[in-house]
Amino acid sequence: MQTELADFIRDTPEGREAEAILRKCVHCGFCTATCPTYQVLGDDLDSPRGRIYLIKRALEGAPVTEKTRLHLDRCLTCRACETTCPSGVQYGRLVDIGRAVVESKTCRRPLERVTRAALAFGLPRTALFSVALALGRLARPLLPPALKAKIPASRKAGAWPAARHARKMLVLGGCVQPALAPSINAAAARLLDRAGISLVEAPGAGCCGGVRFHLNYQEDGRDDMRSLIDAWWPAVASGEIEAIVMTASGCGVTVKDYGHLLAQDPAYREKAARISSLTRDLSEVISAEMVTAGTGRGKVAFQSPCTLQHGQQIRARVEALLAQAGYQLTPVNDAHLCCGSAGTYSLLQPAISTELRGRKLAALQAGGPAAIATANIGCLTHLQSGTQTAVRHWIELLDVQ
Ligand code: SF4
Ligand code: SF4
Repeated sequence: MQTELADFIRDTPEGREAEAILRKCVHCGFCTATCPTYQVLGDDLDSPRGRIYLIKRALEGAPVTEKTRLHLDRCLTCRACETTCPSGVQYGRLVDIGRAVVESKTCRRPLERVTRAALAFGLPRTALFSVALALGRLARPLLPPALKAKIPASRKAGAWPAARHARKMLVLGGCVQPALAPSINAAAARLLDRAGISLVEAPGAGCCGGVRFHLNYQEDGRDDMRSLIDAWWPAVASGEIEAIVMTASGCGVTVKDYGHLLAQDPAYREKAARISSLTRDLSEVISAEMVTAGTGRGKVAFQSPCTLQHGQQIRARVEALLAQAGYQLTPVNDAHLCCGSAGTYSLLQPAISTELRGRKLAALQAGGPAAIATANIGCLTHLQSGTQTAVRHWIELLDVQ
């Protein structure tokens, strides 16, 4: 696509990257077929092709309106369009650049600003989020059903084995996962302990930065990334850990991209690239390190998060692990489509999010599974709020003796 970027961005790193991406798009529209928001809304401006056009116009200096921002806000950043695109358009990177420009040229209404600021402030702070969740659980019986469904019941983590092995890997606790489902990292630690690997969390390691970055507080998100690198660096620099394990695919896709996201920061770019090169999704580690043999464990439907299948391009791996462990995988139609969780999307775009959740749950439950497995805490919580069927991280299913 021919582009003529405006002076304000042409000679910047973002401008050069955006121009290279825009030039690859041939406007063929193949990506519209797999875009969840286009399927729900039917408007070309809510498709990847339409959004690419809006971003191109914004970067060329055309007037930007609230409507432009609305179409970008409605994008889930699921990146199904990247998987579909035959020309290799890196839509995810382009939309990050486009959103920053559009945000800087428009003004949100006060309530929207307060809501987004509250999410950006509260979600990455694990202690604050834990207190809020505990209060929500106390008040749960008094809440209306729609709100009650969003507050998951607490689950015990179980024992975390002592760090007794010479082989060690770091694991990210993350911001909301320790409060919502501490059982996930504990189950990963138990499984890997059996494989001769000790999983350890670094003191002071918190949010990966994805929450604030994708709320368009991009510099605050980068600050979170730098803090996390600082917390991990002693263990990385000492050579005592051989990998950094991600149990939430949403965090994994962000940390694997640190090298790119901090490429313009001379103080952190090398460390960031090193962190990204050490980062593995839990499914990559488990498939490389252990055999999950078993039989007759019942029917399970797997929901592959967008951050796993599109963002990290990891497909069929978890399904293989569950099958080896003895679970019968039920077929799931349209498995490439987003469940509507998408970080804070379910809170900021509730109507589209709820519609997508309904479609996803219908597809997941069609084969009559006893449980639904997933690989991301956001998807887990979102799906669980719409069904009585148990939704678990796949590692929790493997941890069942
Ligand atoms: S992003 Fe790819 S699939 Fe979509 S219109 Fe552009 S070239 Fe075609
Ligand atoms: S990231 Fe997802 S929602 Fe956004 S344009 Fe691409 S396919 Fe559509």
